[in-house]
Amino acid sequence: MKRREFIKKSWPAAVLGAAGIATLAGCGKEEESTQVAALKKELEECKQKAPAVITKKTYEWKMVTTWPPNLPVLQTGTERFAQRVKEASGGRINIQVFAGGELVPPLNTFDAVSDGTVECGSGAAYYWAGKTPAVQWFSAVPFGLNAQGNNAWFYSGGGLKLWEEVYAPFNVVPRPQGNTGVQMGGWFRKEMNTIKDFDGLKMRIPGLGGKVIAGAGGTVVLLPGGEIFTSLERGVLDATEWVGPMHDLRMGFYKAAPYYYYPGWHEPGTTLEVIFNKKAYESLPKDLQAILDAVAMETNLWSLSEFEAGNGAALQELITKHKVNLKQFPADMMDELRKLAKDVLEEEANKDPMARKVHDAFKKFKAQVGVWGTVSENAYYNVIADKFSLKG
Ligand code: CA
Repeated sequence: MKRREFIKKSWPAAVLGAAGIATLAGCGKEEESTQVAALKKELEECKQKAPAVITKKTYEWKMVTTWPPNLPVLQTGTERFAQRVKEASGGRINIQVFAGGELVPPLNTFDAVSDGTVECGSGAAYYWAGKTPAVQWFSAVPFGLNAQGNNAWFYSGGGLKLWEEVYAPFNVVPRPQGNTGVQMGGWFRKEMNTIKDFDGLKMRIPGLGGKVIAGAGGTVVLLPGGEIFTSLERGVLDATEWVGPMHDLRMGFYKAAPYYYYPGWHEPGTTLEVIFNKKAYESLPKDLQAILDAVAMETNLWSLSEFEAGNGAALQELITKHKVNLKQFPADMMDELRKLAKDVLEEEANKDPMARKVHDAFKKFKAQVGVWGTVSENAYYNVIADKFSLKG
């Protein structure tokens, strides 16, 4: 093979660029224009196949979140997401991350992404219940799916397709970006023995869980994170839930309320989201869309791993160092709360046809994986349960 033919076969013409064209200098005019046209065509085809490699187009994006600055895993995970996208794309997407309040108020995240003020955001779907009730099944459902179940629903059970359908009218594209795992039931100033103990109880608990507590006679108080500790310490609040041991330890709640209850029936596997403005997402070449999707999925796994590891270590510290009174909610109380949760979910599902569609799909999927979970994860945990000691 002649050298010129070899080069032409081994390298795309677009990469050879001017050098390829220079070799045509000695040809006749007609032949030259034909060959230049062929090269230009090849260049165009090459651009189609790998546009950003050829054009080196870069995207400068902004991201807002619902999280306070430096909040472990939630805000730091979002910053990690941006960094990983930059690395995976070779610097073709640069996302500047703003914590809650730095660019827009935390709960304006969805609107800012929806109207294109920013290209992307991070939060949790239950914050947007005021937009449309159907969003509430995509973050935390009382007595709903755990992290493993939620991921199975999103990736392999049609959940993400439904989520996309719910966000589409708002020009927003969702992806799971994290999961807290099972949260804790909360910090209580008194022992909780029966469902009647919720009567008149002032508790900070947001979302659907709050509606269940209200159904049990409790008073739901919503406070910004920074005001919870003092309110609990002074008795303005009788109880609060937050996240899990890692984040709860950081808030110092053990100094304000002696009883730490489990499990977090109200948030059994809260999904965190990354959301993209639809137009911005669709304007990207396919390879960059794939990078965003892949890094979101990677961050989802990373986040759950951080929660599992961090919660395990923090729980040990709460038990051994701070002598926290760790207690399980009584089974009868769980049965009562579960009945109330069922009513709350039905009520929300009746609010509009999309909410009904999502609720029914979620319920059906949960029933399927629930039976499997009973003979797999649940049975296994029961087998090894006596090997663990909550006393450290
Ligand atoms: Ca929570």
